[in-house]
Amino acid sequence: MIQYLKARERMIREQLLPRGITDPLVLKAMQEVPRHIFVEDALQAQAYGDFPLPIGEGQTISQPYIVALMTEMLELQGEEKVLEIGTGCGYQTAVLAKICERVYSVERIKKLLARARINLDSARCFNTLCKMADGTMGWPEHGPYDAIIVTAGGPEVPTALLEQLAEPGIMVIPVGDRSGQQLIRVVKTNGTVNYQKRESVRFVSLIGAQGWKIEQ
Ligand code: SAH
Repeated sequence: MIQYLKARERMIREQLLPRGITDPLVLKAMQEVPRHIFVEDALQAQAYGDFPLPIGEGQTISQPYIVALMTEMLELQGEEKVLEIGTGCGYQTAVLAKICERVYSVERIKKLLARARINLDSARCFNTLCKMADGTMGWPEHGPYDAIIVTAGGPEVPTALLEQLAEPGIMVIPVGDRSGQQLIRVVKTNGTVNYQKRESVRFVSLIGAQGWKIEQ
């Protein structure tokens, strides 16, 4: 699997470093996680390319740079309990799992979740727990979370997620309309909630009680 190891090194050198990703923990995790095992066999050769790829059910695995950027924005140190909404194929979950203490991830499509669990086992990410549900309601049983990451785009920041964010805590979520969003970094600290607008992105839709109501 030496060619994939080299492909990961190149991905970091050509896609992440030139765009300003500097957090050593993020770079290490991106070097460690075998991204190719999270996509179907026919797409494995393209797994380290500078673009998203289809994962079935009309959903996508994000471009490597976006995964690195969103992870870096969470400013993880290693001890955190993190909630992810939108498990998809489990790649972002695995990157988080390499960095922090424990990752809870929620996915609404059963087929994707079943595959993600297999992928996460193959990548030896045993500090992850996934469930099928509407992630716009969060996962209250295990909260509050030191960090929350949403990997689908919604019309607003779901209040349930804001409530389940610890203080201090950081959430990263794409907010906008269905064709384009902006990454919002929500920082909860000292009794205040601060919203920072960051990069423009294009994610699949966040569908649920506090997201979009129907598939499109
Ligand atoms: N992080 C994923 C990205 C997958 S795309 C990866 O690396 O592969 C976004 C995912 O969010 C899709 O799988 C979609 O089904 C899921 N999703 C959309 N709305 C959701 C909701 N309300 N709750 C949970 N998952 C949701």
